[in-house]
Amino acid sequence: MTEETVTPMMAQYLEIKAQYADAILFYRMGDFYEMFFADAVAASEALDIALTKRGKHLGEDIAMCGVPVVAAEGHLLALIRKGFRVAIAEQMEDPAEAKKRGSKSVVRRDVVRLVTPGTLTEDSLLEARRHNYLCAFAEVRDEGALAWTDISTGELRVMPCPRPRLSPELARLAPREVLVSETAEAELDGLIRDLGAAITSLSRASFDSAGAEKRLCALWQVGTLEAFGSFGRAELAAMGALVDYLELTQRGKLPLLRPPLREALGGAMQIDAATRRNLEITAALSGGRAGSLLDAVDRTATAGGARLLERRLAAPSRDLSVIAARLDAVDLLVDRARLRDDLREALRRVPDMDRALSRLALDRGGPRDLAAIRSGLSQAALIADLMSGLEPGLLTDAALGLRGHDQIISYLYQSLVEEPPLLARDGGFIAAGFDAELDATRRLRDEGRGVIAAMQADYISQTGIQSLKIKHNNVLGYFIETTSTHAERMLAPPLNETFIHRQTTANQVRFTTVPLSEIETKILNAGNHALELEKRHFADLRAAVLAEAGRIGVAAQGLAELDVAAGFADLAVAEDWARPHVDASHAFHVEQGRHPVVERALRRQGAGPFVANDCALTDERTPAIWLLTGPNMAGKSTFLRQNALIALLAQAGAFVPARAAHIGLVSQLFSRVGASDDLARGRSTFMVEMVETAAILNQADDRALVILDEIGRGTATYDGLSIAWATLEHLHDANRCRALFATHYHEMTALAGKLPGVENATVTVKEWEGEVIFLHEVKKGAADRSYGVQVARLAGLPPAVIDRAKVVLEALEAGERQGTRQKALIDDLPLFRAAPPAPSKVVTKPSAVEARLRDIQPDELTPMQALKLIYEMKQAL
Ligand code: ADP
Repeated sequence: MTEETVTPMMAQYLEIKAQYADAILFYRMGDFYEMFFADAVAASEALDIALTKRGKHLGEDIAMCGVPVVAAEGHLLALIRKGFRVAIAEQMEDPAEAKKRGSKSVVRRDVVRLVTPGTLTEDSLLEARRHNYLCAFAEVRDEGALAWTDISTGELRVMPCPRPRLSPELARLAPREVLVSETAEAELDGLIRDLGAAITSLSRASFDSAGAEKRLCALWQVGTLEAFGSFGRAELAAMGALVDYLELTQRGKLPLLRPPLREALGGAMQIDAATRRNLEITAALSGGRAGSLLDAVDRTATAGGARLLERRLAAPSRDLSVIAARLDAVDLLVDRARLRDDLREALRRVPDMDRALSRLALDRGGPRDLAAIRSGLSQAALIADLMSGLEPGLLTDAALGLRGHDQIISYLYQSLVEEPPLLARDGGFIAAGFDAELDATRRLRDEGRGVIAAMQADYISQTGIQSLKIKHNNVLGYFIETTSTHAERMLAPPLNETFIHRQTTANQVRFTTVPLSEIETKILNAGNHALELEKRHFADLRAAVLAEAGRIGVAAQGLAELDVAAGFADLAVAEDWARPHVDASHAFHVEQGRHPVVERALRRQGAGPFVANDCALTDERTPAIWLLTGPNMAGKSTFLRQNALIALLAQAGAFVPARAAHIGLVSQLFSRVGASDDLARGRSTFMVEMVETAAILNQADDRALVILDEIGRGTATYDGLSIAWATLEHLHDANRCRALFATHYHEMTALAGKLPGVENATVTVKEWEGEVIFLHEVKKGAADRSYGVQVARLAGLPPAVIDRAKVVLEALEAGERQGTRQKALIDDLPLFRAAPPAPSKVVTKPSAVEARLRDIQPDELTPMQALKLIYEMKQAL
């Protein structure tokens, strides 16, 4: 063979690879998935596995690396997380078949699946309590639409979506992958990547709306889609692209897609990406779930409930009747403690039916998925009983779909063992007594095993070798094994007439006998036959479950709904939260509100109690703005955010962390923080701040709730002050919305006198012997000074610097009063004289106060602890 010849296997590899140029190709060879050429180089680096060589191609070494099939899932996930797509090529026939065709023949291989971030279904690759969304964005003429699906649950939704709405809607869904038409890829690339999703561009044909309609009708086997609603061309195109892509990645095996639900644009409270980040709704700034609102309020018992809760918090409702129905349900479960506990107890035993169903549909499911459906549906029936007799409402509606599954439940109970294995191919999941033929075959197989045990005893007595054993492995099948010390005797007459030598290893000699191979064949045949029968039953069971998929899906949805309501109720009782009153007014009254995440954090740290605060934006008309001043660390940001979160929770249908709350429907929620360190995203922080502020001023309507925290901080004082000033005026005069505005520009408090909708409020601090004590109490009125210098002292700045800062501050303040120019002022300041370090004192015995002081770490003290310490030391004097 010359070096230029391409081996048949390589030729096959290259042919398959050419069709999946943008993916890493996992090429199945026996027990491994092998990767070659550039794929191997990229994968070995990404997975940190060894790179080797295998033969040559066109005179060059072929780089190769591989992962064992049994460990493939973990590697797959690692590659997907790093932004790769993976095509999996399996062997489509037994190698023996290929050999029959000729010695040069290669095993037929084909790609069975293209794995991408948005198309995962394996439990091990998914977060149980989170959705894994795949989105498609389509534009037909000037109409835009967004469709999304979670193929692990089969949910499919679509909504009209003009381009400017794309970013906030994607921020709400947090998809893993977004499909766009190749013509729009360049324009949308930045936007989609910024949201942390992978972007995949498809040909324009995939987005063709006429073709899409046909594809969708075929999928749900209907003559027209009218039955599901009336869809615009762009909506059809977006759904069509999703289905097209699923066919491509799943290689024709379509997941179980539920009929589409159409979401109205504007049905949910609008929350843009920056606001979601700032308020840490479903993910904390650090990126994880811990520290987010979702984490603090999640008391759901099921994975489906957790996913629904995430959807609720990501998209609070704007529909008063929907909100009222959800709150009624929580209210009822708050009142009925016994019912709540029973319901939650029953829910805890509900497995993830959605995902089981989806795996079964994709033919990646196993007996355990059938068992999940079985126990899920039986729990559903129990839960339906719990709900019977309640007043009609959301709970009884949710319970409607939980009944009527008796037939499939009893089929699954009769056919499946109690705890079936994961994989169908190993057998052993069909219950005894279900199929007489299977029982008989299994008996034959097991009796064979009994015969072998008897044979072993027989051979021991025949040879006198006590350690003789009959064993089994995949290469030899059943064999007789003795240690090599007995080799000579076994290989000589008369024993060699019975025992036929098979293999000699370092310490053992292995034999077979005629009766042993006969019984082996019997066992094998019976075993194979039993497996065959079980596989047939599995196919029947799978088909029976899939025939019920729609109704099982409705039951799963109902269970999730009940779980969310019960979780909210449990939270409300445990944390003493109140039912909010949400109506069509413009009110915003929160009595004794708390921040759910900060309160929890303080409790965990064992730090002082959270100080509850009221927020009452003027009266029931807009604009209504609170201008909040107060020193750093006083609790301004916390107060701002807690009010935004209370509005969000209320419209998500939850009780709220307050004694009472009256909230006029909020249409849009905006939150911005004067950025100081958004360098990670590579834009000037001030620019980011201004772009984000501009978005609010351009969009907020009179039902918006706007939270602005230290806007203008990112630039020079006077610039910042003027921008903050003008922003507040615009919110008041043009947007006419409700807003909470925190600033350290004390000058702005003058606005309250000028603008009728603006009121001053301040977070109080106490000054005590030159020190600041944070009370975290929000009161009407303006703070009289910023206390910055005192806070600096608390932070441990050297006393000399603090003293100097006080002098500068006084001079500046005096100058301001007299209208002196800053330059002159600075020139006039007395020179800085750092006090020389105090000479070390000779102390014979430290006083109690000194000893106490020496032991403390100022940086580690909370304000409360600092205050306590001061009291303590004063007593010790
Ligand atoms: P600011 O925005 O005024 O700088 P923050 O809102 O960031 O202040 O609050 C600083 C810290 O003070 C918080 O991390 C929290 O530990 C504590 N804090 C804030 N508000 C309260 C409160 N209402 N009750 C108790 N502690 C609070």
